[in-house]
Amino acid sequence: MPHNPAQPSSSTFVGMESLSEPPIQCASPPVQPDQPRLPPLNRPARADERSRWRWLRDRFAYDAISVFASAVVHTIVLITLAYFVWPEAETEPFQVIVAPIADNSAPDLLDPIDIIPDISAHDEAPNVLMDKPVEVQMPDAPNIPSPLAAPKAAPVNSRPADIAWEVPQSVLMIANDAPFGGGFEGRTQEERARLVSQRGGTPGSENAVELALVWLAEHQRQDGSWRLDHQKGSCNARCGNKGSTATSTGATALGLLPFLGAGYTHKQGKYQKVVEEGLYYLTGRMIETRHGGDLQEGTMYAHGLATIAICEAYAMTGDPELKTYAQKAIDFIVHAQHPRGGWRYLPGTPGDTTVTGWQVMALKSARLAKLYVPSHTTEMAKEYLNKVQDAGGAFYGYQVSGKDPAPTAVGLLLRMYLGWRQSDELLGRGSLFLSNRGPSKTDMYFNYYATQVLAHRGGTAWRIWNDDMRDYLVDAQARSGHEAGSWFFTDRHGSFGGRLYTTSISAMILEVYYRHMPLYGEEAVEDEF
Ligand SMILES: [Zn+2]
Repeated sequence: MPHNPAQPSSSTFVGMESLSEPPIQCASPPVQPDQPRLPPLNRPARADERSRWRWLRDRFAYDAISVFASAVVHTIVLITLAYFVWPEAETEPFQVIVAPIADNSAPDLLDPIDIIPDISAHDEAPNVLMDKPVEVQMPDAPNIPSPLAAPKAAPVNSRPADIAWEVPQSVLMIANDAPFGGGFEGRTQEERARLVSQRGGTPGSENAVELALVWLAEHQRQDGSWRLDHQKGSCNARCGNKGSTATSTGATALGLLPFLGAGYTHKQGKYQKVVEEGLYYLTGRMIETRHGGDLQEGTMYAHGLATIAICEAYAMTGDPELKTYAQKAIDFIVHAQHPRGGWRYLPGTPGDTTVTGWQVMALKSARLAKLYVPSHTTEMAKEYLNKVQDAGGAFYGYQVSGKDPAPTAVGLLLRMYLGWRQSDELLGRGSLFLSNRGPSKTDMYFNYYATQVLAHRGGTAWRIWNDDMRDYLVDAQARSGHEAGSWFFTDRHGSFGGRLYTTSISAMILEVYYRHMPLYGEEAVEDEF
């Protein structure tokens, strides 16, 4: 498999901003040729491999020292405390279970982007006091076990599981409507067919998805990438409406995600080679930093999209070759978070709702893949949403409190994934705002998020929305010439992202029935109980 990852023609990525905010040109440093890159998928270069192992070994040593020091200090403290509080009449010898516990007391004097991850400071460290049962919090958005999920044992980069997302499914079913789904189990051909008929898809919508995949496959570059300027290569400008923004990682993720969403991976299905080449390109573009694997090529938009693609591919196949890349991309997101919880174009800068949306969805994909995501990262994301919400959380703004359509759709979807219940009154108010607007004729970015919000919430509002959205997209798909199978709508996002972006996000809207399992309710529970 040839691999010649070309440098992007530019490192500016401005696509897909909120409608409420003017596009922001993010000047970004050009990718330096001597920046360390991870070896591409299936192509471990010996020198790079040694470098990677040294990096992992150094980090492990750092973490091990932290764990050991924490354990020693806390053991001494506990023994001292036990000496004072243990009843003298007690004759049975007591045991102290020694375990590292979180040390959250250290003042945070560093910029978050400069902090090396401390895996000893894990939120769910064992309770060290005797044999009291560990108190397990209800999860933010736990997932049901996936038959496609990655194997638990992993030789590289293994980290402690996050207990908050590991609560048994039976516990979650107890008379509540808390979220528990959202996984990738619907992405098998059998489940896909069942969910399409059950959740409102049609043979026409499925045909549109398959036609879109054909178009996407035909517009993949020889190096495995996609570009928002889709006209080079075999297209030879036979399709119009190329994008104006350059990002090879973001565009390649947009190319890959509809395949993964429909159940096609590099291990199964008729698009194995397409997906493999795309993943190969993406992983080859990862730049190794001490904060994780950087796929930005300019902005966190592209990094978030690329991370979702790698995490989904890993979660769906369990391919151990992808695990390190997925974890390192997630680590980069963790470190790029602003202290007030959001993400924006550049790491560590105050957040906006749309960039934050992609990062939180990447974190969710990572949790589904059993990768390590610190709980404080998702907790801080909630803090960000609190900052930009309006009317108590029914509506959301772009960077400040507001009631903007696309940010509200993003904000509500994140609220669902972060733990809001299906019956939440604020979720109901916000959903009504979205459904009353109806699907946009041109803004697929708004439609993409609003469709997911309303699909997860269900009910009559969803059925009305879905009938309009689905049939509009099926009718609007190009049916002739080289453009057949693609979409383009004239709006700000379309002009930045072009036909590739529009086709990708439109296909994912039509994959809503199975791309993520329902977050709530009977639909997902029926088959399990
Ligand atoms: Zn074309």
